[in-house]
Amino acid sequence: MFQSIKEYVSTQKQLLKEHCVNQFIGLVIIQVGDNPASNSYVKGKIKDCAEVGINCKHIKLDENITEKKLLKIIKKYNRNKFYNGIIVQLPLPKHISEENVKLAINPKKDVDGFHPLSHYKPCTPLGIMDYLLDQGVNFCGLHAIVIGRSNIVGKPMAKMLLEKNCTVTVLHSKSTIEDLRAEVAKADIIIVATGKMHLLTNKFKFKENAIVIDVGINRGTDGKLHGDCDPDLSVGFQSPVPGGVGLLTRLALLSNTIKAKYDC
Ligand code: NDP
Repeated sequence: MFQSIKEYVSTQKQLLKEHCVNQFIGLVIIQVGDNPASNSYVKGKIKDCAEVGINCKHIKLDENITEKKLLKIIKKYNRNKFYNGIIVQLPLPKHISEENVKLAINPKKDVDGFHPLSHYKPCTPLGIMDYLLDQGVNFCGLHAIVIGRSNIVGKPMAKMLLEKNCTVTVLHSKSTIEDLRAEVAKADIIIVATGKMHLLTNKFKFKENAIVIDVGINRGTDGKLHGDCDPDLSVGFQSPVPGGVGLLTRLALLSNTIKAKYDC
């Protein structure tokens, strides 16, 4: 029986808090513009930092700032001795290259784990792995599938599962429905990260004890947040949305930021 993600995150935050006592651990969050979803994500990150004792500096920049000026601000914090973590909230306005921004952050301070040379693992797959390990999942030889192959979720997730000796299959939008059905039916671990509501429903056949981790966040026509899976799959464990992977991702950001203190 798995511990609820909410309880797990709360316990882990208490442990992280102990690492922050009597020292300055600093995270800079750079936000461009006033995207409502970004405002809400940033608010959550600031609250998390306050809870564990990380000093968080939120820099909110005008929507029309040039890429050059943004890169200059990032470089200033790359050199700053106090702030050991830097993140830039995505998405960015269209006139700014996300790639250039990701590459501008010092890999030692890139606590989102987006730089190819980052010293940290990307927060979403890291948060998921840490949780499953804590719950005693013995990955060796398990058949894991990852649905979605983005650079920030699907690909690093597949790599981490492989490193734990799972047999890993990655599916994506060009995979056939027959392959998807067949892979789902033999999977012990199913990670779904597509941004497509109702992708997995009880019309699929699952292993009785399968673990389903739903990364997706979709706004339904009811105005509420939903995952990529219907919420009542016939499996051993299914992570909820909301209150699931989002919390694990935020926890991993705190953990990377504390690690960065010792790296910088
Ligand atoms: P991307 O849009 O970058 O990637 C989506 C992936 O899903 C692509 O690889 C795409 O395939 C694949 N895909 C799309 N449709 C299908 C389909 N019908 N069958 C199989 N695969 C499909 O998204 P992200 O990886 O960034 O995010 C995925 C979801 O997770 C989103 O809802 C996002 O909001 C959420 N998210 C949640 C986080 C959290 O903390 N809870 C953190 C990060 C993301 P192809 O490559 O062929 O296009």
